[in-house]
Amino acid sequence: MKKILLGNEAIARGAYEAGCHIAAAYPGTPSTEILETIARDYPEIKSQWSPNEKTALEVAAGASIAGARSLVAMKHVGLNVAADPFFTFSYTGVLGGLVIVNADDPGAWSSQNEQDNRHLGRAAKIPVLEPSDPNEAKEFTKMAFEISEKFDVPVMIRTVTRLSHSQGLVEIDDRKEIPVKEFVRDPKKNVMLPAHARIRHKYKEEIQIPSLIEYSENSGINKLIKRKTNRGIITSGIAYEYVMEVCPNDSVLKIGMPWPLPEKLIREFASQVEELYVVEELDPYLEDAIKAMGIEVKGGKNIIPILGELTPEIVNSALNNVEYKPAFPMYDESKIPARPPVLCKGCPHIFVFEVLKKLDLHVNGDIGCYTLGVFPPYSAMHTQGCMGASIGMHLGMEKAHGSELIKKSVAVIGDAKFIHSGITGLIDLVYNKGTGTVIILDNRITAMTGHQNNPASGKTISGEATFELDLEAISKACGVKRVVTVDPKDTQLLEKTILEETQAEEPSVIITKRRCILVKS
Ligand code: SF4
Repeated sequence: MKKILLGNEAIARGAYEAGCHIAAAYPGTPSTEILETIARDYPEIKSQWSPNEKTALEVAAGASIAGARSLVAMKHVGLNVAADPFFTFSYTGVLGGLVIVNADDPGAWSSQNEQDNRHLGRAAKIPVLEPSDPNEAKEFTKMAFEISEKFDVPVMIRTVTRLSHSQGLVEIDDRKEIPVKEFVRDPKKNVMLPAHARIRHKYKEEIQIPSLIEYSENSGINKLIKRKTNRGIITSGIAYEYVMEVCPNDSVLKIGMPWPLPEKLIREFASQVEELYVVEELDPYLEDAIKAMGIEVKGGKNIIPILGELTPEIVNSALNNVEYKPAFPMYDESKIPARPPVLCKGCPHIFVFEVLKKLDLHVNGDIGCYTLGVFPPYSAMHTQGCMGASIGMHLGMEKAHGSELIKKSVAVIGDAKFIHSGITGLIDLVYNKGTGTVIILDNRITAMTGHQNNPASGKTISGEATFELDLEAISKACGVKRVVTVDPKDTQLLEKTILEETQAEEPSVIITKRRCILVKS
């Protein structure tokens, strides 16, 4: 049977069919639907939202070491948060298969950068699989569990926005029931102190990586399409689809496993064509590796943009020397007035930003719907870096300019981001004698990624009631004595509270508590 599925739904299906037992994630576009699908459609897999990507990966790694097949999903910047366990569990390895799904966002449609996480897979020496369509996304997920167990290593699946959010026909198979293996205590493998880490590193370099290279060369995961032509194109992921559409006469080597690369296969392919091109989104990851093998690349990032998403039209123009024509010329961007996203009408954040604008405060922002406070009509956000950064940056500015600047400033952060990585910033602020004011915009949900529950919502991924994190209590536990909760709709009280708290000679937290208007109670 075949079904039309989103790339993310196909990955969820792959996990189900592979007999996956445990799945964890922190929501982040474009990866969010993977866990939503698992929680909704596959109760055989125990699923959860974790407070952040690091804890999600640790849960999946713990389950794997205990013998369960486990999956963790995150967006590309989430892998930065999870980088510490990502690098170390690469050495530890697995008992049950461990699959790490990483969704990159070329074009930065919903992200703060366009990083290319194939580099992180290579740096951590974790095998990377890169599917090109939803059916392959499902098949590669199943394959990833097998590779993980066979080679004793976590496996990363790299998707991009256009695959995660595209639909395609997917062959549906039954679930293979895999029993959870017996947990065996093995401190030499599972306790990564220096003496053990050195042994595991040696194992990785001398046994695991050579075996993975052999797999990459011979398993068929990298596909060769030979045609009678002088031109050869090496490509991977979603770019393969564009190449197949606009270069029907060229020979193609489709890289399904960007790390480790099949060097012999690449050399063989390059030797059979007169001109070699490399087509890939974002960084010249494949191109640099191929050039480092001493192979000449005629066309790569010298003709293919390094910025943003590719399209068949861009690839056609670059490779076939035809004039670039957008697919939808009637939507000529230069003729359409810019319409930046805005906060929903009635959004609780609007009240806060109206007051902040009126008071003309400097605002250190964070990541959520409320980042839109940077745009008119509020124009009331002045810095923003990554999740949880608002509070640390607030303290840094006080260290740079003293408490007078900080009396004209606030840090704003949502409930989910405060839990994700803002709590440590607040501890830093108190511990290092900051006096700034932090506003926690508590809308009771993780709104920006599509209204996922979080520990302050008091509900699990499946909507079951659970412990509800008390943001006032946790702020006090971090050492803040001045903690106050206000309804942001009472703008007079909110304004008075912000004025009072910013003038205090000690740190303070204001929790503006009002549910996102799009969420039913
Ligand atoms: S989804 Fe909710 S929190 Fe986000 S802008 Fe709309 S009302 Fe505000």
